[in-house]
Amino acid sequence: MNKYIELENIIKDKSRIRYNEPMKNHITARVGGPCDVMVFPKSIDEIKQVISYAKKNNIPYFVMGKGSNLLVADKGINMIVIKISNDFDDIKIDGEYMEVLAGTSMPKIAVIAKNNFLSGFEFACGIPGTIGGGIFMNAGAYGGEIKDVIVNVTFLDENDNIVTFDNDKLEFSYRKSYFANHPDCVILSCKLKLKKVADTKEIEEKMLKNNTARKEKQPLEYPNFGSVFKRPEGYFVGKLISDCNLKGYRIGGAEISKKHAGFIVNIGNATCNDILSLIKYIQDTVNKNFGVMLTPEVKLIGGEFK
Ligand SMILES: Cc1cc2nc3c(=O)[nH]c(=O)nc-3n(C[C@H](O)[C@H](O)[C@H](O)COP(=O)(O)OP(=O)(O)OC[C@H]3O[C@@H](n4cnc5c(N)ncnc54)[C@H](O)[C@@H]3O)c2cc1C
Repeated sequence: MNKYIELENIIKDKSRIRYNEPMKNHITARVGGPCDVMVFPKSIDEIKQVISYAKKNNIPYFVMGKGSNLLVADKGINMIVIKISNDFDDIKIDGEYMEVLAGTSMPKIAVIAKNNFLSGFEFACGIPGTIGGGIFMNAGAYGGEIKDVIVNVTFLDENDNIVTFDNDKLEFSYRKSYFANHPDCVILSCKLKLKKVADTKEIEEKMLKNNTARKEKQPLEYPNFGSVFKRPEGYFVGKLISDCNLKGYRIGGAEISKKHAGFIVNIGNATCNDILSLIKYIQDTVNKNFGVMLTPEVKLIGGEFK
C-alpha cells in the first residue's frame, strides 16, 4: 500500500512525482540515499496542497532547490522532498525590475538580465543554485550578495499564508536570511532591482571574468557542494586548510581538493559518511593548529555533523 497515494490527487502528472528517489541524483555532491517521495510542483497551489497534506498527516517534508548546498545521509530520508527548480521557473521584466519564480536558476537570471541590458546580477552568474536557495543562503561571490538586488520576497509562511517581505525585513547577513530561522517557510518568488545600461559589453566582461576565475580556482571537474565552511572573521578557509598540509587528503571517495582546499570533492563513489568524516577531520586539524573552529556552510538532511 502506497502511503503517499493521496499526493497523486495533487500532482496529477506522473512524471512530477517519484517514489524512493535517489537523492544523489539531485545533489551536486552526488551522495545520499533515497527519499520516500520527491515532488516537482509547478504552481503555488500545488506547493500549498502538498504542504497541507504533509502537515495534516504529520509527514516531515523538506524544500530544496538545485541541491548545490546540501548533503543527504547515506541511509536516506523518510520525507517528502519538494523540489522547487526547473518546473517552477519564470522571469518577467518590467524596466529595471525582474519578477522571478523561486525555482529559476541564478546563472539563467544572469544571462536574461544581460540580454535585457540589466546590470547587477553578474556576481551570481556561476552560482549553481536557484534564486530560492540563493535567497535562503544570501548567496554571494565576487563582491556581490543576493541581498544587494532583492526588493522583496514572497513566501508561504508557517501558517500557510502568502506574504511579501521587503528587503529590510529579510534579516540578510553573511550566508543567512530570515528563512534560516524560519525553515518551514517556502520561498515562492522575488522582485529584483537591477540597473539599466546602454551597452552589455561590461556585463559580458564581468561574467566572463567571474566564470574564468571559477574554472581556474574551483574543482568544477568533480562533484562538490561549493565552499564547505563559512569564512571565519579574519581568516581564509582555503589557506587555513592548506597550511595544515591537508590538500589531497582523502577519506574513502572524498578528497580535500588539490586545486582549492576549501572544497571537498567526490572523486568517485564517495558516501555522505566519507564527507562527514572528512569535515570532522578538517575541523579538528584546523582547530588544533590554529585555534579556529570552522562551521559548515553546507546543510545536512537526515543526519548530524559528527
Ligand atoms: C561549484 C559550486 C560553487 C558554488 N559557489 C558559490 C558561491 O560563489 N557563493 C555562494 O554563496 N554559494 C555557492 N555555492 C553554494 C550554493 O550554490 C548556494 O548556496 C545556492 O544558493 C544554493 O541554492 P540551491 O537552489 O542549490 O539550494 P539547495 O542546496 O537546494 O538548498 C539550500 C537551502 O535553501 C533552502 N531552500 C532552497 N530553495 C528554497 C525555497 N524555494 N524555499 C525555502 N527554502 C529553500 C533549502 O531548504 C536549504 O536549506 C556553490 C556551490 C557549488 C556546487
